[in-house]
Amino acid sequence: MDLQWRLLPLLMLLASIFILFFIQDSSKPSRKDCSLLPYNHFWIKSKRIVTPQGIISGAVEVNGGNIVSIVKEEDWKAKSKELVDYGEAVVMPGLIDVHAHLDDPGRAEWEGFPSGTKAAAAGGITTLIDMPLNSFPSTVSTETLKLKIEAAEKKIYVDVGFWGGLVPENAFNATALEALLLAGVLGLKSFMCPSGINDFPMTNTSHIKEGLAVLAKYRRPLLVHAEIQEKSELLSEGENGGDDPRSYATYLKTRPPSWEEAAIRELLTVTEDTRLGGPAEGAHLHVVHLSDASSSLQLIKEAKSRGDSLTVETCPHYLAFSAEEIQDGDTRFKCAPPIRDTSNKEKLWEALMEGHIDLLSSDHSPTVPDLKLLSDGNFLRAWGGISSLQFVLPVTWSYGQKYGVTLEQLTQLWSERPAKLAGQDSKGAIAIGNHADMVVWEPEAEFDLNANYPVFIKNPSISAYLGKRLSGKVLATFVRGNLVFKEGNHAPTPCGAPILAT
Ligand SMILES: [Zn+2]
Repeated sequence: MDLQWRLLPLLMLLASIFILFFIQDSSKPSRKDCSLLPYNHFWIKSKRIVTPQGIISGAVEVNGGNIVSIVKEEDWKAKSKELVDYGEAVVMPGLIDVHAHLDDPGRAEWEGFPSGTKAAAAGGITTLIDMPLNSFPSTVSTETLKLKIEAAEKKIYVDVGFWGGLVPENAFNATALEALLLAGVLGLKSFMCPSGINDFPMTNTSHIKEGLAVLAKYRRPLLVHAEIQEKSELLSEGENGGDDPRSYATYLKTRPPSWEEAAIRELLTVTEDTRLGGPAEGAHLHVVHLSDASSSLQLIKEAKSRGDSLTVETCPHYLAFSAEEIQDGDTRFKCAPPIRDTSNKEKLWEALMEGHIDLLSSDHSPTVPDLKLLSDGNFLRAWGGISSLQFVLPVTWSYGQKYGVTLEQLTQLWSERPAKLAGQDSKGAIAIGNHADMVVWEPEAEFDLNANYPVFIKNPSISAYLGKRLSGKVLATFVRGNLVFKEGNHAPTPCGAPILAT
């Protein structure tokens, strides 16, 4: 047989492998689409790089999406053309927001994965963990988690993980909870008061105890909205004319600090199980969005000192605003638990600076302007939730100046500890081997958050931060080495990855 004929099948095989490879490869977005920078291997240089060992002047080498070396200025020899020099701008680990509601699927008109993750990227957030409620359906089963992942896939500009819901329907069903954890949720979230969402009912301490027992096995956390409804002191219409629903003071009365205190007191009867040698050793409880800096915080401090596996977060709006300054009818400021008075805010900052509050999160909880009832101004009927995702870095930096917040503290509060809570070992620090998730920003640059400012959240008009002057401008955001945001522009293709626990 002619040699040519013997080679033909081999050639055809090679050709088909080549075609297959080409088809597979073209279905994956190329680096050019995922990143505003054409390099796979490059250096980021700056005089202020925040590392776990302190702030250095030098360069970070990125290759294949990871940080492969960190070099101090004096040891810098590489004369690479693939270099981005940011001068005096700060290079920090990207922020990890462990508490965001992107409301997708089901209520994408409130936010949605595309707009929410564009806003995150523009704000220096490189990973966010989406809450199991305010989307529809709520993420409380393997089926609903699947819908969530489908809604996120190919639509996210940053990495996104998911919390599952602990609700009465699944709390006593260990098989269902384990299935949800095995399907990849990073932990569970539950409410001790009505959540405001019908398919996400509240849990009591026995549900929480059951949930913790299952979570202990997987060493994943339970996040709890800690408020217990008590009798309201509100005067109804007719009694002395009733309380004015447009007054912020009226809203404050409906959710006093004693609600938080009562919930935390109950939670602590369960968190003692998480101590070393306890029946739920390995489980961890995280109190979300603490507002009360007095009795509630004191209880948490005491439980920590007894060895309970317990952490607590607060949010920028509790640190930036105080009740006294909220105008009648300005429902942009309504959230639960509520923003309290100035002395409470001062105490929250003190606790944050002393390390009693472990981390920060946005609790970005938007809706459509209609449900905020901005023209009506009724605090009792308006949707509760602050819209903030894009602004949390400049807000915590700007309002923290008075209290002496440092870049290292911002990194601990926004990156290192959130990474630990969400079980993300390769994120949260500029360290060799970690994902190249970084934000480059100018802390000293001031800007007005006005109509000319490029805002990417879906409904900017409902944000309580509009109209404020802030300092700290985000120049660039890298997610796993992709430059996903640069000076007002996003990468053409959303290449963020859904994060599933394994
Ligand atoms: Zn929330």
